[in-house]
Amino acid sequence: MIVAGIVIEIERKKIKHTHLAVYPPDARVHVSAPEELDERDIRSYIASKLAWIREQRRVILAQPRQTRREYVSGEDIYALGRRYRLWVVEASPHAAKRRTTETSIRGRTQDRTREGVTISGTRLMLHVRAGASRSHKERMVKSWQRELLEACIIGKMADWCKKLGREVPAVEIHTMKTRWGSCLRNKGKIAFNAALARVPARCVEYVIVHELTHFEVIGHSKAFVRLMDKRLPRWRVLRDELNGFIGMPLEERP
Ligand SMILES: [Zn+2]
Repeated sequence: MIVAGIVIEIERKKIKHTHLAVYPPDARVHVSAPEELDERDIRSYIASKLAWIREQRRVILAQPRQTRREYVSGEDIYALGRRYRLWVVEASPHAAKRRTTETSIRGRTQDRTREGVTISGTRLMLHVRAGASRSHKERMVKSWQRELLEACIIGKMADWCKKLGREVPAVEIHTMKTRWGSCLRNKGKIAFNAALARVPARCVEYVIVHELTHFEVIGHSKAFVRLMDKRLPRWRVLRDELNGFIGMPLEERP
């Protein structure tokens, strides 16, 4: 089927709900539809998702898997689903000296040589010492991404635990190869994939609710699905959106 110039693969299945996914590396669009759903309904379903499909395709096609980020000005950096343009600001070797002078004149500390990340609109300013290596810049960007992810998880986790009337579990963020998250029931702990730092906060929330629900139900049984439907009715949409990101270069992958 072709909708708005985009080729859509349609697969008929014995399912209740229609699923939509855009797969890397070629941004192939795949729809699984219930056997009895008529073609017109599929078409109008796809039409209603066109903006999302286009955005997924743009992201996937703009991010070839093999590209290695060099951490130079002009590159794109993703954090919690937002795209930032990297701007590397190298401190001049004389900055430290100048700072001392400024401090003594103004009588207060003006640390212009400190390394770190600042955000200005969609620009990610990476302040580094002169001649900082690629791996040094990579570490700085990743630790900034991870801090954002951690803050997002901790905030949403607290909200959800309050809502569900349960204790807040310990949280770990790891490099994981195959999963977005995992619930370690016996340890009262949830582990999250560090790669979640790139996806929108709403998808991180889906992983949180999913893993929290595993404290009550092991596996993805009907009971699990019922709880998910109750807690986060649009979880299927969020899951599909999240899985669309797998094709983004997960730099944490080996
Ligand atoms: Zn699960």
